[in-house]
Amino acid sequence: MTGVHDQRLRDYRGKRHFDTTAEPRGNGEAGDKGPSFVVQIHEARRMHFDFRLEVDGVLKSWAVPRGPSENPRDRRLAVPTEDHPLEYRTFEGVIAKGEYGGGTVIVWDQGTYRPMSHDRHGRPVPFAESLEEGHATFWLEGTKLRGEYALTRFKDGPGTGEEVWLLIKANDRRAVRGGQGTPDPLRARSARTGRTLHQVTAEESGDGPS
Ligand code: MN
Repeated sequence: MTGVHDQRLRDYRGKRHFDTTAEPRGNGEAGDKGPSFVVQIHEARRMHFDFRLEVDGVLKSWAVPRGPSENPRDRRLAVPTEDHPLEYRTFEGVIAKGEYGGGTVIVWDQGTYRPMSHDRHGRPVPFAESLEEGHATFWLEGTKLRGEYALTRFKDGPGTGEEVWLLIKANDRRAVRGGQGTPDPLRARSARTGRTLHQVTAEESGDGPS
């Protein structure tokens, strides 16, 4: 891959030891059916969801503490994290304790998305450009999440000074009003293997509970 690609994964690679983690190093395998997205549940020190969109050869990534909601009234905080390699969209397993992000990961949802970003006059804007400008809209076609969502940047997080975005469902025919709108991470099942976090942890630890 190009030097630009390597540059974009430098933060990702710098945080990990690829001799001790099963996470992919990333060689830039391209998507084949349009840009992909993945939502992983990550039982790290703090449980969170990782929301990732394929953009220009990498997965742009946000940690979403409460997870995406299908209810347009919910505004979900989304904190940017380092770009991940495309291969990460299939990663499911246990990251060793003591490693960066140590804990169990499942693929909660996966699929493709259609960029919908436009300017105030309704003209289409290249998706990467819309992210740089801090407001991107897209249509998800996942196994769970479907319909239009928006990611919008705020300059500062509440009291932290770090960059914070909001992930919000558009009020379209795929919106789910009322109800909880948010998956329970401990009961949720992988879109790839049907397993819960607990099952992945038990299976990948080898001999289950001791
Ligand atoms: Mn994470």
